[in-house]
Amino acid sequence: MTNSRRKVHEGKAKIVWEIPPPRDMPGTGRAQEPAFVIEFKDDATAFDGRKRGLIEGKGRVNNLLSAIFFELLEREGVPTHYLKTLSDREMLVRRLEIVPVEVVVRNVAAGSLAKRLGLAEGTPLARTVVEFYYKSDELGDPLINRHHVRTLGLATDEELDRMETLALRANDILGRALAECGLRLIDFKLEFGRTDAGEIVLADEISPDTCRLWDVESGERLDKDRFRRDLGGVEEAYEEVLHRVREAAAKWRDLRPGGREGAEPAAPASPASADAPSGRPRARVFVTLKSTVLDPQGAAVRRALQTLGYTEVGDVRVGKFIVLELEEADPERVDEMCRRLLANPVIEDYRFELDE
Ligand code: UDP
Repeated sequence: MTNSRRKVHEGKAKIVWEIPPPRDMPGTGRAQEPAFVIEFKDDATAFDGRKRGLIEGKGRVNNLLSAIFFELLEREGVPTHYLKTLSDREMLVRRLEIVPVEVVVRNVAAGSLAKRLGLAEGTPLARTVVEFYYKSDELGDPLINRHHVRTLGLATDEELDRMETLALRANDILGRALAECGLRLIDFKLEFGRTDAGEIVLADEISPDTCRLWDVESGERLDKDRFRRDLGGVEEAYEEVLHRVREAAAKWRDLRPGGREGAEPAAPASPASADAPSGRPRARVFVTLKSTVLDPQGAAVRRALQTLGYTEVGDVRVGKFIVLELEEADPERVDEMCRRLLANPVIEDYRFELDE
């Protein structure tokens, strides 16, 4: 570490460093804002620190995964502390005052909830469950409710509402994204902080340390439970999650942002909206893989829909939609364009609509 950094906190899995202002933060869009550096360690603890160990490469995986998830959430309108990835293990974040309330969101019964309510692990929950825990090492992070939060003055009612809303929104976004990676988001823990201006912002990390992730097909656990329960293959599980998420992340970056809170999401491009009033005829061409050809993107979407409960969905084909502005509506020429360039007739089907 350079001398200009001051350690402000060392936790079980991370070190927080203060860096002196003014900082050079090109490309973050948040020049001059107070910032911390988070260093992710390989150290692992469980059961309130009673079990300790090392998961080699965990710091790198958790840092890189958290960055991908924070970027995705920001694009979808959930504010986070993430500013920039500095190295494999280090992330630049906004300086926040951490709210000492951990928010756990659950879609499927597992861990402490399964025990507390006497449910078999893996039982889907009819409604998403949100829980609050008091972030206190001395007390062992006890489960608390809104009244406790109020009595202890840990957060205002408005702040707690905001945290719950953002946590549920994060659950939707992450659940969808992870389903595309063949992972079920069973449950996860979030932490929030306040900016100097009093805004509630998502903080901490999002990783296999803080999420339960089960393989959609095999049900295999690809998260910290492998360490907690001595299941073996811990490092491999963390690497597998990073590998799958990285593969999918390139696609998420191309997605249209869902918009900031309050903003109506923009209408998706549709055949109708693609008709600009230029007065010239248009051809709308639809290209999909032939039903005899394997469509991995379609299969991923189908898996994701089924994970979300849309079990009625059968085969899914993902394709291209192309709009051509023409001088005249000549179906033969459009058909030729499709065969020669727009579609590959060996593996793809196409059809087109022409308006005069
Ligand atoms: N969790 C966490 N930090 C904690 C406690 C829980 O990140 O200090 C995460 C955990 O990984 C799981 C979810 O929160 O994804 C719910 O955990 P649970 O209450 O079932 O506790 P556990 O079984 O881990 O004791």
